[in-house]
Amino acid sequence: MSLTTTQFIKDYRAAALTLFADQLENLSVRQQYAALAFVVKGYYATDWAKTKADYDARQQKQLYYFSIEFMPGQLLGSNLLNLGIKTVVEAGLHRLTLDPATLYAAEGDPGLGNGGLGRLASAFLDAMASVGMAGNGNGIRYQYGLFEQRFVDGYQVELPDDWLRDPYMWETRKENRAVIVKFGGQVELRPRRNGSLQAIYHNAEDVLAVPYDIAMVGYHTKRVNTLRLWAAEPVPGRAHNLAEKSRVTEITQILYPDDSNTTGRELRLRQEYFFVSAGVQSIITHFKRQHEDLHLLPQFVAIHINDTHPAMAVLELMRILLDEEQMTWDEAWAITVATLSYTNHTLMTEALESWPEPMFAGLLPRLYQVAQEVDRRFRATYTKRYGELLVNRAAPLGDGQLRMAYLAVIGSHAVNGVAKLHSELLKDSVLKDLYTLFPARFNNKTNGITPRRWVQLADQPLADLLDQTLGQDWRRDPRQLEQLRAKATTPQFLTALHAAKRQNKVALAAVIQATLGLTVNPDAIFDVQIKRLHAYKRQLLHVFGILEAYRALKAGEDRPARVHVFGAKAAPSYRYAKAVIKLINAVADLVNHDPDVAGRLQVAFLPNYGVTLAEHIIPAADISEQISLAGTEASGTSNMKLMATGALTLATLDGANIEMRAAAGPASMAMFGLTAEEVAQKQRDHSYNARAVYEADPVLHAVVDMLTDGSIPGIASEGPEIVTELLDYNDTYFVLADFQSYVTASRQLDQLWQAPAEWGKRVVENLAASGQFSADFTVQRYGREVWNVLPEHPVD
Ligand SMILES: *Cc1c(COP(=O)(O)O)cnc(C)c1O
Repeated sequence: MSLTTTQFIKDYRAAALTLFADQLENLSVRQQYAALAFVVKGYYATDWAKTKADYDARQQKQLYYFSIEFMPGQLLGSNLLNLGIKTVVEAGLHRLTLDPATLYAAEGDPGLGNGGLGRLASAFLDAMASVGMAGNGNGIRYQYGLFEQRFVDGYQVELPDDWLRDPYMWETRKENRAVIVKFGGQVELRPRRNGSLQAIYHNAEDVLAVPYDIAMVGYHTKRVNTLRLWAAEPVPGRAHNLAEKSRVTEITQILYPDDSNTTGRELRLRQEYFFVSAGVQSIITHFKRQHEDLHLLPQFVAIHINDTHPAMAVLELMRILLDEEQMTWDEAWAITVATLSYTNHTLMTEALESWPEPMFAGLLPRLYQVAQEVDRRFRATYTKRYGELLVNRAAPLGDGQLRMAYLAVIGSHAVNGVAKLHSELLKDSVLKDLYTLFPARFNNKTNGITPRRWVQLADQPLADLLDQTLGQDWRRDPRQLEQLRAKATTPQFLTALHAAKRQNKVALAAVIQATLGLTVNPDAIFDVQIKRLHAYKRQLLHVFGILEAYRALKAGEDRPARVHVFGAKAAPSYRYAKAVIKLINAVADLVNHDPDVAGRLQVAFLPNYGVTLAEHIIPAADISEQISLAGTEASGTSNMKLMATGALTLATLDGANIEMRAAAGPASMAMFGLTAEEVAQKQRDHSYNARAVYEADPVLHAVVDMLTDGSIPGIASEGPEIVTELLDYNDTYFVLADFQSYVTASRQLDQLWQAPAEWGKRVVENLAASGQFSADFTVQRYGREVWNVLPEHPVD
């Protein structure tokens, strides 16, 4: 949009007066932020309304991305950037003697997810608006986001994240679009005269689902799509005592803080049905305002199931088409399959969602009937050709459970993994049987990130340098960064690149100082691992690497200085992950206070990892640790963010690391460790013996022993617990097996660091190749190959 500084100042002053009945100068920072957000909301409001009207007017097919998590991050900066008014607004703020950075920092960070899944969903929404695709989000407005993490004596402590205490400026409550979601009770099927069945509900519990819409502003496109988040409220006018009321509101009260373990969780099931039913109902209502014939639904609507949490969209859409639209089963099924598509995010069988049939039947009696019929017809259709054994294994109902991943594949026309390796492994592991039945449905869509947030907003020193070097085209099409390869050996460019990185490291050092009271050396290698704390991601291997370096330095070896930076939350009930957190903090205590390694080895574990903290850490990284056991990390996306800001990747051949290396060149990364195939082989033939590896390697032996021999104070129970997992339970994630090659690869990076021109060349290769991992390309591939929703402003 076009805006002058003068006009902005006028608008901003007016907003301050309207909202707070006072002059801008007299407001608190939080109020100044709120007034600013209010102005910016006004700047896109017309385009938002117009986008919706345009889609309707030209009967545009729309995609609805159903996800139980969204992590949009702070939106002020990204809205200004995408509207193209960031420079003007910042100039205006300066003229008002306000500091833009202070105002940006006053915004909260909605933690409506655990990690990669939620961040991916938000990246896709940003990308779709930015290439002009009609794509909207559908999720839950949790009253409390993922817990706020603090460390007390090195232990994780969880505080509630009351992110709605201050009004959330970007949401708009749409009471007029509320719908009713039904739970429990009994269902009676009464034959209608036309032969169809009418579902009559007795004693069902009605819950009001109220949507809150958040604008997803496209980058320079004038397209503003919608993220719709649903809140549960009692139906107005019905008597509710406090207990009944809170039984309703608790549905959207908390984010389930664990996306990797399944335990008995009726509340989670209620959450899932709540946002799926509300979303599907509102899509159908909107569709019927535009079109007469619901048979045309797949022509105008695509619904995407992001991981299995929204998989009951299969059953809910069937219920509506059967019960409310009185279609035959075959008609309804054809529409459902043509409308839905599904992304799988995990290969770990223990993380595959399934619901005990009695729980599902009790809470969602009509959906359970539909599930039984899906199951019956599935068996009837495929048993003859594929045999009872296979069909039993692949059916939606089995072992007394409703298996959501299977249901999602059966009820969708397309199913994808999130990196090439992952998509291949799906076909011969968790979805093998369904691949046999439906091979044409399977495809790959490697994840992506939005370089607007991670480079343009979070890494301005780099963004400025790229502008000076290439002009601004890379901002719209980051594949333009390929041109950087010509600069890979240009000393001036490498010097400027190093200076930009150093500026980011100084900024992160200030954050570390303010948060932990630790003074780190900005000329050291910043070695970063940021992601959920999980055994498969192997933060433990990184810790072992630190202990190896610590011992070497103490023994008088000379190595380049390193600062190890961690960010990670552990699920509150995940004992092992919490033990590793305590270990990292204990190791930090040890090395940060040991004068023998002062300034040469430091560990900074920053609490409360989230999108905003990631924006501080990522631009400052020299090394990106992507060290999951091969075959366990579906894709990873922090690997891509760190690549895009010029870190070198220290990685196993897992997830998207493989594609990143292929893109940047074989020498661009430090790879190590077992391959997925080797791991699978060892698991099959039980040939791995962790204790033997420990006994055979004196360095590893010494490192492991540090966990139990008192060398690291403060881990009297955690140290032995971790060592028990490694030696007595044979090291499920092959940490010991990969230790030696990990240290070797890490030492190669030390050597490279001592040859700055070589290091710089590798950085350039990574930056040059990073553009293809923009989510803009990922969503276009989904649009063309899965959703049939095309970009209005394609980047290609
Ligand atoms: C990108 C991102 C993730 C995903 O990180 P992985 O290392 O790919 O697991 C998780 N959390 C936040 C806050 C992120 O920004």
